[in-house]
Amino acid sequence: MPYLGQKASKGGHADLIKNPDVEAFLKDCVYMREPSDSEGAAIASQFLPAPKGSELPACVVASDASPYSDPISNRFPSTQVGYVKVSLVAFDMNNFNGLIEAGSSLVDPFKVAAFHRDAQAVSFTLPGSNIRYKGAKTVKDGFRLAVYEQLSHDRTSFGREGITVKDTLLFIHGGKITIKKCPSCGGEGKPFEFDLTHEMIECPICSQIAYVTDCMRIHEQISDYGDNTAAITRFMNAAEHLLMATLIKTLVDSNITQLSSMAFIVDGPLALFGQPAKIHLPLMAFYHNVSSMVLAAGYAPPLLMGLQKEGQVMEHARSLDRFLKSGTYRVIDDDYRGQYISGGPAELDNFGHETYYGQDFILKTESGRIFTVGIPYPFPNKQDRSAFAKRKSDVSFYEAWLGRAFDLIRHLEFDLYESAVVPIALAHRHASISLVPGGMMLDLLTKQHMGSVR
Ligand SMILES: [Zn+2]
Repeated sequence: MPYLGQKASKGGHADLIKNPDVEAFLKDCVYMREPSDSEGAAIASQFLPAPKGSELPACVVASDASPYSDPISNRFPSTQVGYVKVSLVAFDMNNFNGLIEAGSSLVDPFKVAAFHRDAQAVSFTLPGSNIRYKGAKTVKDGFRLAVYEQLSHDRTSFGREGITVKDTLLFIHGGKITIKKCPSCGGEGKPFEFDLTHEMIECPICSQIAYVTDCMRIHEQISDYGDNTAAITRFMNAAEHLLMATLIKTLVDSNITQLSSMAFIVDGPLALFGQPAKIHLPLMAFYHNVSSMVLAAGYAPPLLMGLQKEGQVMEHARSLDRFLKSGTYRVIDDDYRGQYISGGPAELDNFGHETYYGQDFILKTESGRIFTVGIPYPFPNKQDRSAFAKRKSDVSFYEAWLGRAFDLIRHLEFDLYESAVVPIALAHRHASISLVPGGMMLDLLTKQHMGSVR
């Protein structure tokens, strides 16, 4: 997804909101507004000095993804193939300082090219609209097969003996996934019980094959004749988060010391939306387990963060910019979100209950740039929903990460794009420009960090 300023887009909305019908309609709606001077000052007074960490990570991995959907022929524009590219860019922080040209805030393009060699791009090709993959009975059945094949493919693993995204999906579910209804005919017979030795099960009613990856339910958005770009976007969201988890799981299994000295940056909030949203819970439990394991081994837990460059929280944060002091931050608790961001009182208990696995914070850095940062909820589950809603925004639980996350942003922020940090911008460039798969990223990690203790 592009940063502001990376790609110009002009909306023609001005005429629409001048339309009297629309104006009258809006009078009956609640939405986010520009804060008044007194409101802005009141909100800014709730911001606290942003903590600092003790040291920077040795290595940062950032991911970004882009979806594409194209007709296979100009004569048949409604017959489309979907394409998703997720790029992970790894770089050694020792090499970072040289990336910015001395005396300017510009990034040296030759050095950027070198970083791109340390990137791993994983691309997925899926049936879009009106394409039945491998002769499947329906577009949807072919889509399910393609999702299973693509997520089980070696290219979703890091290193030769690494696990695939499909393995990660099973692992975070405790090695067992159950689906009640047949994903093809909807029949409810005996539940489908998947594990490592049963990843495909034939439906006794319709004889179609159910795949373990059907648990993400992305295919439910696929129609035989309509536009399937929404399903491709959901797939991209799930694939990006699961790829990052796959890399982290690979490092948990191979080198905890190295994992401890790393930071991982995902583009967007730490959340999964739409049909695959349920995966956010096992992901949250997985990251909690990883942190506990690394802590028990005597190391600092790895840092994972989601950086948002658009969306409601970011728009709200930008509207506050002139009121906020540099070097301050605030946790976005549900009351705050309800009052200032959603434009009305919190209508639900526990915002993001079905989607989020991380807590949002707004940061204004010492140099005056605004960021929205997500840090994984440091809990194994969301039991006791209303108590969780309070606990998740208690900043004392985030002490192990917050100072380090803010330090990393302070170190990586740059002028080129608004609210950009270098790794995500590089990952974005990689995901959107180069369609050539990069080298194997684990080779870089292995060469530079294997066994190194910071
Ligand atoms: Zn069936």
